[in-house]
Amino acid sequence: MKKIEFTVQPVACSVRPITYNEDLCIGCGRCAKVCQCDILLPSPEKGKPPIVMYPGECYYCGACVMVCPKPGAITLEHPLMNRAKFVPIKEEPPVS
Ligand code: SF4
Ligand code: SF4
Repeated sequence: MKKIEFTVQPVACSVRPITYNEDLCIGCGRCAKVCQCDILLPSPEKGKPPIVMYPGECYYCGACVMVCPKPGAITLEHPLMNRAKFVPIKEEPPVS
């Protein structure tokens, strides 16, 4: 059977939701497999972390981090607007 090779480049984007720690990652590919948005592509190199192909399309569900068997191998960083916390405002005293 004829072998077909594809060359792909990660799509450039201003956000960087996923970072890998190459010292901890064992390259099992579970994170890439669980991602419903296909953001991550398994590395062609055995034992290496997946490639973050489409960082701008991540919706920060955290499934990739939860499925990882090596704590600290993958980190998800939420954008600033997702980290906002709404707190009740103090009531102003009535004007007399
Ligand atoms: S946070 Fe969710 S959408 Fe983003 S890469 Fe991980 S599994 Fe995919
Ligand atoms: S699930 Fe964890 S150990 Fe496996 S490839 Fe992803 S980051 Fe690496």
